[in-house]
Amino acid sequence: MSDVLRHKRELGRQGRLLSPGGTLESIHVSPNTRSVWHMDGGKSGNATCLGCHDAPCIELKEQNFDLGGELSAFPGDPSQEVCPVNAINWKEGGETVEIDNERCVGCGLCALQCPYGAITLNVDGTAKVETDDLDHVTVPAETGTTHTQAKKQGSLSASGGHFLTNLPEIIAALNDTQTTRLVRNIFLSCGVAANIRRKGDTNVRMDGLLRFPSGQIGVVEIETSPNVLESPRALLEDIAVLHNRFGVPMPEIVPVSVISSFPNVRVEYYQVIDDIENVLGIQCRSLTLASLFILGWHFRSLEKMPDDLFTTTSGSTDLLPSLKELIPEMPDLEPYLGAYRPFK
Ligand code: SF4
Ligand code: SF4
Repeated sequence: MSDVLRHKRELGRQGRLLSPGGTLESIHVSPNTRSVWHMDGGKSGNATCLGCHDAPCIELKEQNFDLGGELSAFPGDPSQEVCPVNAINWKEGGETVEIDNERCVGCGLCALQCPYGAITLNVDGTAKVETDDLDHVTVPAETGTTHTQAKKQGSLSASGGHFLTNLPEIIAALNDTQTTRLVRNIFLSCGVAANIRRKGDTNVRMDGLLRFPSGQIGVVEIETSPNVLESPRALLEDIAVLHNRFGVPMPEIVPVSVISSFPNVRVEYYQVIDDIENVLGIQCRSLTLASLFILGWHFRSLEKMPDDLFTTTSGSTDLLPSLKELIPEMPDLEPYLGAYRPFK
């Protein structure tokens, strides 16, 4: 554990510890407003920070990115930090956590990890921790290691908001380490075990590995610049390594390009993916960061990757139908050009 995280943990352990004063049945999350707890006995109240000492909003559990078996040997980024830009910390005294709005890019990853819906996104795109117990729904607690499994409903933000509409520019301003964490942590928030290589680690060629709840293994190439053409070619090499050295059967492997936005229709990216499928029968998938965040922000899991999900072809690339299959209520509006489909 890093010194920073150790310090955060120690601060947290000194502070107060609360729990909801009843069994949480569901948490309703709405854009730009406080989440609401629905508890047994019909009681409800505005969500608030409990000061839970393991602070899942700050620190991930190590086992989240252990893919198990042979894949545990993959040399991924060991950082347990949730926030890619280190903008969330314990407040002095450790009572609650606070957000550094100067650093926060509004990705919502901390909010997705908080089991209690105590973090929301402001209209200006930064995150906010709710700390006052307006409705007197908390009670002092002695331990805080077992968290509620109450399901979150609603969405952190629909398809607009500062982060989503400005995503390519925000990502372009991040360094490699921050991008790696952002990609790994949004996969984790979508229920997919993920381990992403530290940039500069030359021991392994592929950018990352995924294990979907279905058992399928994903191999990942991340390309957040407009230069995405190499991504499907690199995936082919990754598949060979994963099959030959890690022993993963070919039918279980799902090759995934993670990109900021789709390139222009005339870029050969689509044709190369067609060629790979036609000649080798391997279907490369494309996931834009917008589509991953839309899934996460609606609290949906990417349980499996059937053949018809997030496919890319030269004639008909459009991620919206795949997203709608998982989130029927989501708006159709593309948050930025190239988020769901190539621009002309
Ligand atoms: S924001 Fe959420 S996860 Fe973080 S300490 Fe508060 S209640 Fe716990
Ligand atoms: S919204 Fe994202 S950038 Fe802001 S504090 Fe949370 S994790 Fe960090």
